[in-house]
Amino acid sequence: MMTGTLITIVGPMFSGKTTELLRIMDRELIAKRHSVLFKPQIDNRYSEEDVLNHNGIGRKAIIANDSHNILDKTLELNKQKAIENVFIDEIQFFDSGIIEIIKKINDLGIAVYTCGLNQIFKGEPFPFKDGKRDIGYLMAISDQIISLDAVCNVCGKKATKTYRIGTDTETVIVGGQDKYQARCKDCFKK
Ligand code: ADP
Ligand code: MG
Ligand code: ZN
Repeated sequence: MMTGTLITIVGPMFSGKTTELLRIMDRELIAKRHSVLFKPQIDNRYSEEDVLNHNGIGRKAIIANDSHNILDKTLELNKQKAIENVFIDEIQFFDSGIIEIIKKINDLGIAVYTCGLNQIFKGEPFPFKDGKRDIGYLMAISDQIISLDAVCNVCGKKATKTYRIGTDTETVIVGGQDKYQARCKDCFKK
């Protein structure tokens, strides 16, 4: 059996990460490859059980409280019918254990596609929930990285940063266009 591949999609908010993840998943489903989609508990911006992009297009997802849920559920479903792909949205909201879990899933011959924010609103690498590792670690061990940009909400140039509106300083505050903007590096500094 061949070890599964690991593909990571990164970018700022509104860069189309979820759209790209779902696009790849659609193609895998057309090819009739058994695929499962996970999302973390924390992301309830639009819906409790769907993974939705900012255009409201979505697919049913299994909600995982922590990284171990993903392995447990994958093993359970894999027994019923061999899984070929595991998709994980909003990877940055999991604990660092997600790294070992992904390796274990790859070792079952299953491909893993993840997507998430590469930077917090301060422009630093996005740490996993327990702070032990960050998204940079995941990018480093990925076989392929898909790096997307958005449109700067101020000037219209390519945006690689996520700008938070307001004065909150916590790393994780869940929100959409009410709390965040995509910005280029120049407008991010303002
Ligand atoms: P992500 O998962 O990266 O946050 P989504 O895939 O959910 O992004 O949404 C991408 C969609 O967001 C785009 O197709 C576009 O319709 C919309 N959008 C809203 N604001 C912006 C922006 N500033 N730049 C690019 N797309 C934006
Ligand atoms: Mg998204
Ligand atoms: Zn700009």
